[in-house]
Amino acid sequence: MSEPALASLVGGRRVEGDEVVPDINPAAPDEHVATVTLAGPEIAAEAVEAAAGAFAAWRDTPPPARGDVLRRAADLVDERADEIGRDLAREEGKTLAEAVGETRRAAAILRYYAGQTLEPDGETYPSHSALTFLYARREPLGVVTAISPWNFPIAIPAWKIAPAVAFGNTVVWKPAEIVPLTSTHLAAAFFDAGLPDGVLNLVLGRGSVVGDMLVTHDRVEAITFTGSNAVGRALQLKATEAGKKVQLELGGKNPAVVLADADLELAAEQVARGAFLSAGQKCTATSRVIVEQRVLEEFGDRVAALARSWPVGDPLDETTKVGPLSSKSQLDTVSGYLDVAEREAARVLVGGGRPDGGGYFVEPTVLADLPATSAVVREEIFGPVAALLPASSYEEAVALANDTPFGLTAALFTRDLGKALRFARDIRAGVVKVNQESAGLEFQAPFGGMRQSSSGSREQGKVARDFFTQWKTVYLDAPPTE
Ligand code: NAD
Repeated sequence: MSEPALASLVGGRRVEGDEVVPDINPAAPDEHVATVTLAGPEIAAEAVEAAAGAFAAWRDTPPPARGDVLRRAADLVDERADEIGRDLAREEGKTLAEAVGETRRAAAILRYYAGQTLEPDGETYPSHSALTFLYARREPLGVVTAISPWNFPIAIPAWKIAPAVAFGNTVVWKPAEIVPLTSTHLAAAFFDAGLPDGVLNLVLGRGSVVGDMLVTHDRVEAITFTGSNAVGRALQLKATEAGKKVQLELGGKNPAVVLADADLELAAEQVARGAFLSAGQKCTATSRVIVEQRVLEEFGDRVAALARSWPVGDPLDETTKVGPLSSKSQLDTVSGYLDVAEREAARVLVGGGRPDGGGYFVEPTVLADLPATSAVVREEIFGPVAALLPASSYEEAVALANDTPFGLTAALFTRDLGKALRFARDIRAGVVKVNQESAGLEFQAPFGGMRQSSSGSREQGKVARDFFTQWKTVYLDAPPTE
């Protein structure tokens, strides 16, 4: 490798770890996109201390000035979107169009939170005393640890870091191991925009190695985590025990319900998008498709035809619709579920293959005739795999849709406005889409799941202020007049 290895960025300085690992292109695993030196717990602790040292000055920086930095960072991300998107596609595997689109969305998120710095940050209250000016303000928490997954390697960090710094916190960010280059690009945009040293610190390291330090360090006040249920729930226990504020956004097993009166062409297109784009590796991906019996066959044929027509291949090729899975371990997990489906004699409407091009590819797959207890129907797969389930009525469809421990997103396809409103009320999910794919979010609205999909708080939009700040109530009596 001629390029220098990527490294953690602590207090504005590059800090190399001892272990050097390659950053792999999942479409061609022999190709190394970069090399990375991984941090250990000492570097993680240094990052927390750097963030703690930068806090007082950043808290005292007027919010609109913090917003100016975010706005400049947004401009830089936009200017660099083609380069960042290309590197994102190379190390994560989503298509170039998706990767550049995600990068531009990250820029828009930074700009949105720049605007939020001008919004009201408190309330006044009438006091029972004529002397008292009673008000409450939202204050920053201090050092926030942000832990992010690989599947949206720039948008998710943006929607954590931007509100954290906009509202006056300092941040230690630990991205997923397999997306160090995208992470470095985002951190660089913040630094080049003039973010003071120590306000954002990037720790490139394994979760199992640096995680405990970043979660339990005395100077860390809060942890915002997006990732798997297993890791998130274990982290929540440790963080809560250590007295930290914690926010989790976790997995999903999102249903799309297709009623018999739906526009089936629209429903098939949107279900295919929800299930197969980004190779199904979205927490909001559609993975259970519950279809009214009368239209099950026609709908299945339509989705299968679409899946068959969508080219699988190199994410940098503009004709590609579905790229590879992001890692060998993802390929092994998804393959495991396809093996379960085969053992359970599922009917394969389309796909099921793992094209042998060297990369971690899985064909868009639609399965039917699975038992309701199947792991394929119950567990998050995180691959381009959808299970079709029949329902005899609206009521049965909703019962099936709600029969999951998760509750992230849900989609309904119908022309019946009454059923749409009923579904929006009946479904246990944090986000409901009617005649739209289950994936795809707008950053100005609250996002988060119910039940096992979340810790109950919400991200994005104005509500981000709830997590990243705390109330302080002030009773101010004017001194007696002479
Ligand atoms: P993961 O849980 O394996 O990793 C997430 C992050 O946690 C990574 O940065 C990882 O390094 C870190 N980590 C691992 N072990 C840790 C430890 N012991 N302590 C602290 N941090 C640790 O998840 P992933 O494979 O990166 O992402 C896929 C998962 O994320 C899926 O379950 C998906 O549904 C979920 N997800 C949820 C949302 C949402 O908003 N609800 C969005 C995207 C992804």
